[in-house]
Amino acid sequence: MVFEKIQNDGFEQIIYCNDSKVGLKAIIALHSTVLGPATGGCRMWNYANEGEALFDVLRLSQGMTYKASLAGLDWGGGKAVILGDPRGIKAPGLLERFGEYVDRFGGVYITAKDVGIGAEDLRRVKTKTPHVLGIEGDQNSSGDPSPATAWGVYHGLQACAKFAFQTDSLKGIKIALQGLGSVSYYLLEYLIAEGADVIGCDINSEMVDRAVKKYGIQITSAEEIYDVPCDIFSPSALGSSINASSLSRLKTKVIAGAANNQLATEKEGREIFERGMIYAPDYAINAGGLINIYYEDPARGGYTRQRAFDHVSHIRKTIWDILERSKVEKQPTHVIANRMAEERIRMAV
Ligand code: NAD
Repeated sequence: MVFEKIQNDGFEQIIYCNDSKVGLKAIIALHSTVLGPATGGCRMWNYANEGEALFDVLRLSQGMTYKASLAGLDWGGGKAVILGDPRGIKAPGLLERFGEYVDRFGGVYITAKDVGIGAEDLRRVKTKTPHVLGIEGDQNSSGDPSPATAWGVYHGLQACAKFAFQTDSLKGIKIALQGLGSVSYYLLEYLIAEGADVIGCDINSEMVDRAVKKYGIQITSAEEIYDVPCDIFSPSALGSSINASSLSRLKTKVIAGAANNQLATEKEGREIFERGMIYAPDYAINAGGLINIYYEDPARGGYTRQRAFDHVSHIRKTIWDILERSKVEKQPTHVIANRMAEERIRMAV
């Protein structure tokens, strides 16, 4: 079963890491190293069983290959999962031992943060391997990825607005923003400065108060956001917010936002296309954080915000190219985005 899966989806290598002395059980998956080192964070999670952990690491590492490729990075895709409870202080030696496993790849796998792993945890990993990026607060760190992600989403929204409404500006464009967390907070600065008409929601009242106080945006409830007539619906909370039920309620021309895994299934992607709506594929429009961290790689000569943000602004062209090809080839945008990512990899082989 496992060989069938890794052959079909082209995985290069999967290793199981085990050290009973420190209680380490981890899986590292390298999906592709064609464009460069397989890069992707380490997630720690209380998986129900090993099969679930394997499924997660395979899915996530493959996603990293596509994301890096489409963002024009010389990176491949990889990911690691540590099986266990991420809450509280992790067992002595656990993360250090994980670092030793990462080090065995000699830089072919680069790790970073993901769910359940914090900056302090990564510092422990780094005591055993230099192949760790994205430790917030450290020297040469690219810091919080949210501002870069927001900068990329802003450029993606501009491309969508130009394509859908033939306008070079977001002025007067009505945007329904689902989720007012870190990325949205930075994004709002660009949207409001450009004169967009934003209505937002969040299930956390502190986030709502913060956005209203600073930007004076209109607010609706988390339930009613789907019914708001708007030009752009922007998912910026959790995944799967575009599902059969929400899609039937949306009154928008464009769906474009920061959230990961926005489409509950591929079916929604096809339906969006058939209804003549525009969807900016999530992993293309939200790649700003990954691009930012890419410039932290010593292979790029050290992090500078200017270079990173210049690269992030290319997301505008990436989204534009996807939308154009979708129109010409009469295929949904998520299909086109995958195709473009695969083509770059094929050309590099
Ligand atoms: P965040 O946790 O800071 O913000 C998410 C917000 O959504 C929270 O304030 C939460 O209360 C709210 N929320 C949750 N469920 C909701 C619902 N049903 N309705 C309305 N609001 C709801 O996260 P973030 O860093 O701003 O990221 C937002 C999304 O973008 C996530 O899907 C994340 O995976 C994705 N993303 C983030 C980055 C980044 O750099 N932070 C990069 C790529 C992708």
